[in-house]
Amino acid sequence: MVRRLGCQSERNLCELTHHLDSARECETLYIVMNGLPDVKWHSKSASQTVESLESDAADGLHPEEAARRLACFGFNEVCAAACRPAWLRFLLQFHQALVYLLLAAVVVSALLGEWVDAAVIFGVVVVNAIVGFLQESKAEDAIGALAEMVITEATVRRSGERLQIPSREVVPGDLVILKSGDQVPADLYLLEARNLQLEEAALTGESQPVTKQTAVLADETVLAERLNLAFTGTHVTRGTGMGLVFATAAGTEMGRIAGLIDQAEDLKTPLTRKISRFSGYLLYAIIGLAAVTFLIGTLRGDDWRSSFMASVALAVAAIPEGLPAALTVTLAIGVSRMARRRVIIRKLPAVETLGGTTVICSDKTGTLTQNQMTVQEIFAGGRLYHVSGSGYESEGRIHHREEPVVVGENAALIETLGAGLLCNDSKIVRDEEGVAKIQGDPTEAALIVSARKAGISEDELSERLPRVESIPFESGYNYMATLHGESGEPKMIYIKGAMETLAESCAYQLDEEGLRVPFEKEEIKSLADGMASRGLRVLAFARREMPVEHRELERDHVTAELTFLGLQGKLDPPRPEAIDAVAKCKGAGIDVKMVTGDHLLTARAVAGQMGLVNSDGGQAMTGAEIEKLEGVALAEAAQRTTVFARVTPEEKLRLVKSLQSLGHVVAMTGDGVNDAPALKQADIGIAMGITGTDVSISTADMVITDDNFASIEAAVEEGRGVFDNLTKFIVWTLPTNFGEGLVVMFAILAGTVLPILPVQILWINMSTALLLGMMLVFEPKERNMMKRRPRDPNEPLLTRSLQLRILLVSLMMLAGCFLLFGWERERGSSLDVARTVAVNVFVIVEMFYLFNCRSFTRTMFSIGLFSNPWLILGSVVMLGLQLLFTYVPFMNLVFQSAPISGRSWAGIFAVGLAVYLTIGAVKMLDRIWKKRTE
Ligand code: ADP
Ligand code: MG
Repeated sequence: MVRRLGCQSERNLCELTHHLDSARECETLYIVMNGLPDVKWHSKSASQTVESLESDAADGLHPEEAARRLACFGFNEVCAAACRPAWLRFLLQFHQALVYLLLAAVVVSALLGEWVDAAVIFGVVVVNAIVGFLQESKAEDAIGALAEMVITEATVRRSGERLQIPSREVVPGDLVILKSGDQVPADLYLLEARNLQLEEAALTGESQPVTKQTAVLADETVLAERLNLAFTGTHVTRGTGMGLVFATAAGTEMGRIAGLIDQAEDLKTPLTRKISRFSGYLLYAIIGLAAVTFLIGTLRGDDWRSSFMASVALAVAAIPEGLPAALTVTLAIGVSRMARRRVIIRKLPAVETLGGTTVICSDKTGTLTQNQMTVQEIFAGGRLYHVSGSGYESEGRIHHREEPVVVGENAALIETLGAGLLCNDSKIVRDEEGVAKIQGDPTEAALIVSARKAGISEDELSERLPRVESIPFESGYNYMATLHGESGEPKMIYIKGAMETLAESCAYQLDEEGLRVPFEKEEIKSLADGMASRGLRVLAFARREMPVEHRELERDHVTAELTFLGLQGKLDPPRPEAIDAVAKCKGAGIDVKMVTGDHLLTARAVAGQMGLVNSDGGQAMTGAEIEKLEGVALAEAAQRTTVFARVTPEEKLRLVKSLQSLGHVVAMTGDGVNDAPALKQADIGIAMGITGTDVSISTADMVITDDNFASIEAAVEEGRGVFDNLTKFIVWTLPTNFGEGLVVMFAILAGTVLPILPVQILWINMSTALLLGMMLVFEPKERNMMKRRPRDPNEPLLTRSLQLRILLVSLMMLAGCFLLFGWERERGSSLDVARTVAVNVFVIVEMFYLFNCRSFTRTMFSIGLFSNPWLILGSVVMLGLQLLFTYVPFMNLVFQSAPISGRSWAGIFAVGLAVYLTIGAVKMLDRIWKKRTE
């Protein structure tokens, strides 16, 4: 599934080879398997293949042999181009227009003999690169670690036993079993292919699934036509198969081209892209302004050196240096916060999109419900039975009208329960503590329990009717079928699935005596509806007798002539935490819709229990109804309806599209193979970590590791938090740049000396971004976050009122700076002192304003003064640095600063406080204004 291709395979290989008994052993194996890359596997026969891979077509490798091969060949992972060396990543930090501009300034200043300036600017460039490098590495690590949390699994047979192992442990010679939804873990030679279809787009670019077979092919067959091979990175869309691994890791076809297709996990999102574009424009504007400044200065007859330094100051001032790094870090922190809440982000933009989600379309089974199924009602042979007991323990009885039932008295009941056991791929096992656990699908496990409660012997049954063939369950088809019987005996097909699907194909039904009578379609359907409206998940059972020689099982065999056996209705209680999460989403203005493959009445009943719909249960429709609608009518229906039942994957896709056409930001869950298109289309495709297929996980934007709806809600909450913090940082940082830019421009236009020098501006920008701005990233989420409406995706990042706020603060900085600078000059202070005061005005105003920016609406006191200790720490350190800047002789030398008096400090703090109070008042006015317009 997730191919986070770490650089580790080689190191692991070395580590592992140490553990080998003798290196010689490994060598022999290598020699035997050597030359494998050049073998034309597709032209080999099955027996040749088995022989050259030293494996076994029936039992697979011995586990010890597999371990030995793992040690020799290493993990089945590919090291991709993503692994850029650290030095290159560091150098890339300098590859930014801004940095080039600064470097140009360094060179020119040096040529002009302004050594201190040149050194300081150069120092800033280096520090900036180091900080950027560290932050980027941290972000990449965080995201890389997440990818490793999602482990792909493969089903293999070793020593005859079927095992689930991590895909990275698959070795050459392994016997791999494939079923629909699986990702092919390594390159395979197919020994078996039953209706096996693979989607090979990742390899060949062809998105139509390819039907595989096992015939030997000609030597010169091209890659796309090697139908008897299955390749890494492709996935099974239908059918089942089995194959021998002939290549792993870098030896696979995919491994060979890994460098081409596997791009590094990208740290870009639409927002960061928008911002870098904005920075680009800003840069041109700034260079233009700087040029104009230089011209005006020289035209007026100023010394061209000082004009040049002024334009450098302007450029340096107006560029928000800390912005890109802050964005990346905020996103990365969001990602790891989400991981703590069981959400793995696979595509970084999702973090941002999540905050704007307006509709969540969720699966029912397992996401909104517990996926802990217990059969409660059985209908067979004309009678309705109740089943007692709960969970996967077999305590409980089958009752009919309060009386315990002797199961043997009803032939249809025995067949219904037996069919549930035979047409079943799941198991109940006991863990170390002896607690019953299921392996596979809870829908099926419940059937094992109900059969056990009736005392039916599983061993006897599977011995008498061994399985010959099967068609696995696939959503969209809504049934599963198996073919049973010894050779030489008549064969029997057992089918279980949705009532509506089976009803079309049944001609007879089994009565109590075990006799075939005509099928009473309407009567049985209404019985099933009755069960469904009680919130039960209903499965129907049927069978069909086949001739002795019959050995194949096709979909055609189960669409006619079936004999209906009975119904089993299962209870799947809602998850209590999901009920809360649904309520929270509603409060946050997010529409939650249930999209399920289950019956309309079941879905509606569960939706009622979840608080999704009123108890009258309106606003529900089926897939068939979606099918009939188009365009605007469909979009309106999709918007209005809360419960969608019997929905096929294609209809899911249409639903997403029509909701998007109304401007919705849609999050959609999916677990099946066929859900991939809908997951791709949705703004946020969500896959299930436990029950999801490999395919759904690899196409999704995010994975919820506990399959729980509550985690989706948590992710939305975190997403909103990330967006909030990003906006706060931007609103905090821009006024400084504007303010500084304005100060320089004014000074030049007015023809006065610069109140702040370029190196001083760099000092302000760097130190405050790191010590003050970055602390906003740690701001806890605001309490009212899930009470606001979702952000309108078309709304600009900075609303009108925030733009005004930024402008206001910039102007106050400008005014404060000139005022105090002028006052110092008036008092007869030196230029250095006046400039130090001006620098301190900026820093202190930023510090006060930082506390304004903790929330756009609330005051610092209602947030809690100490709820973000980082902010306090950062401010204290910043103050300390300013004292060094002002009083330490070395700093005075480098930055041309000078000690200032207590009275000056008083003035500086007065300006800071004025800004704080003004913005506080603006917030209050905003609040009042909002209340009035609401
Ligand atoms: P959901 O996950 O939304 O509840 P599914 O797509 O899993 O829906 O199932 C849809 C329908 O298919 C179910 O209502 C049931 O009738 C049938 N079904 C589900 N699982 C199985 C299975 N393992 N075997 C046969 N039929 C199944
Ligand atoms: Mg399901």
